[in-house]
Amino acid sequence: MSKLPNVGTTIFTVMSALAAQHKAINLSQGFPDFDCSEILKQLVNEAMEQGHNQYAPMPGIMPLREAIAEKISNLYGQNVNPDTEITITPGGTYAIFTAIATCISAGDEVIIFEPAYDSYIPNVLVNGGVPVLIPLSYPDYHIDWQLVRSRITPRTKMIMLNTPHNPTGSILTEADIQELEKLVTEFNILILSDEVYEHLVYDGAKHLSILRYPALFRNSFVTFSFGKVFHITGWKMGYCVAPAHLMQEYRKVHQYLCFSVNTPMQYGITGFLKTPEHYLSLPAFFQQKRDHFLQLMADSRFTPLQSCGSYFQLMRYDRISDEGDKDFTIRITKEFGVASIPVSAFYQEGKDDHVVRFCFAKRTETLEKAVERLRKI
Ligand code: GLN
Repeated sequence: MSKLPNVGTTIFTVMSALAAQHKAINLSQGFPDFDCSEILKQLVNEAMEQGHNQYAPMPGIMPLREAIAEKISNLYGQNVNPDTEITITPGGTYAIFTAIATCISAGDEVIIFEPAYDSYIPNVLVNGGVPVLIPLSYPDYHIDWQLVRSRITPRTKMIMLNTPHNPTGSILTEADIQELEKLVTEFNILILSDEVYEHLVYDGAKHLSILRYPALFRNSFVTFSFGKVFHITGWKMGYCVAPAHLMQEYRKVHQYLCFSVNTPMQYGITGFLKTPEHYLSLPAFFQQKRDHFLQLMADSRFTPLQSCGSYFQLMRYDRISDEGDKDFTIRITKEFGVASIPVSAFYQEGKDDHVVRFCFAKRTETLEKAVERLRKI
């Protein structure tokens, strides 16, 4: 028996395991190799000491939801009700699954752009939905809205967005938002917007959160990750924001999936959100890493594609080899000691443009050591 016969082990687990096995530098799975703030750890410890060690309320502790509402109001100008429109989740991937489980029934079509983060399609399939796959236009990975329009049917229930985009680093523009508004108003489609890299936008660009647009937010679930914002991917903390009528349904599913999220971390994060300086410094912090990585790689035989956001940098390797990208990433992990992600893993049919993804959320010395090896290829 299998509800997901064509699904294997996620590429992030596969490549991180291979990196560990060969003691390679791991630029594959997206996580920082530096620690989170000492203050944040201290705040969590204090919460434990103070006895915040039992179940949190099902939607999350109120002070955290209030702090998130304030952040949203400051950054995106949207007034979100912390009582009815925000739910704390164990990570961004969970937040996405729950939104799909809330809305998608057998036969419902969900528009997904490829390359797509690898959980999206299995999430839709396991809920009986039908993924409608639309390629992003290579090499800048923008959305072809004419194509989207042509794939809409009476069964189209939801469109999934991801900005900044994993794995390509592309971001939505004002023109994209206008096209989206036209579609959503005309066809009454739900939006699921994965914005876990909201603060990782470079070269002065602005993160166009769906939360900025009341006409879109009305139909949307928007998901976020504290893991990406506070360098704590191992804590598995995130949240979903949706208008009250959708959030009411979301919580019906959430309460029977995990009920609530761990309490002391919620208190710790609440305290840390009071210093916005941390997340406001992220664009400069990560842009410096991207630029340093690109500069070091300029002498290699890899060809970079444009990364406007996220902590990923795509590179073509067609000047090095004509191997398939899976073989290539396995070989360079084993032979050169640097692990990356083959971008074909983000396509259902394994489309292979000979592009690999490197995560640059790493210490300077890690990036320098990795590039020293990559230059030898
Ligand atoms: N989001 C991370 C990435 O793209 C991985 C998350 C995971 O391993 N589930 O690398």
